[in-house]
Amino acid sequence: MHLTDKLRKVFEVEKQLRGLKARLHEAERSLAKYEKDLTAIQTDKAKLETDLKQLTAQAANFEGETKRLDARMAVLKEQMDNAKTNKEYKAFLTELNTFKADRDRNEQSALEIMTKADEMKKQIASLDDKKGEREQLKTVAANERTTRHNEIADRLTELTAQRDTLAKDLPQDALRDLQRLLDTRGEDAMGIVEVVDVKRGEFHCSVCMMSLPTDKALGLVKGDRITKCTSCQCILYLDEEGALSLNPNARAQAKEDAKIRALSTGPKAKAPKKPKAEPAPATPEA
Ligand SMILES: [Zn+2]
Repeated sequence: MHLTDKLRKVFEVEKQLRGLKARLHEAERSLAKYEKDLTAIQTDKAKLETDLKQLTAQAANFEGETKRLDARMAVLKEQMDNAKTNKEYKAFLTELNTFKADRDRNEQSALEIMTKADEMKKQIASLDDKKGEREQLKTVAANERTTRHNEIADRLTELTAQRDTLAKDLPQDALRDLQRLLDTRGEDAMGIVEVVDVKRGEFHCSVCMMSLPTDKALGLVKGDRITKCTSCQCILYLDEEGALSLNPNARAQAKEDAKIRALSTGPKAKAPKKPKAEPAPATPEA
């Protein structure tokens, strides 16, 4: 087997290996994303809960103050009932009105805080919903990852063994070259030489679609050394059709086979081409 054929075989197995692992990596990425979401939700929730605690403490202070004012007002009302003079009564009334105004302001503040606290509680509840949803998604993703892992485990071992066997047959430097290209370019590590027109010497690389010089394409018929694309530097190879169109011996053989097939079909076979005849003289007009 030619060097490029051996490289191609390793390349094909590597592509399958990488494809398998890609699906596992995808499942791992989803799982990591949900875990990250959950941490963010937990952080937001903890902050809201701290803020809510502070608000509740503030609300309790206002509540205590309202109770204190209520008690103070009750005393004043009693004093008013027992006032001896009109002047004394008016003095208590003025004081009572001041307390009432304080109490109103106090109550207003408490109400604002309670509204804020209610809003916060709603936000916390919504985060809880979100958390539940993410936890479900995380469970699905974790199962998916396990399934993917189990699914590919056998195939992975199988393909790895296959790759190792094929790789043993390759020179170390060629294998290193291919490995490096696989790491940097993935599936574009190797490219087919697309034969457009042999006679006009038109070939291009299937990876970058740029033209290739004829000698590169022809060199691949022998395939005993690594040939790279002039433009994108992928390792080039010929597929069966390309190899046939570039190999004169194979082409001649294919023609010969076709001829034999044609003859064996009997009278229908195409007659060999006659040498070009002289044009017939024009018939003189009568
Ligand atoms: Zn190329």
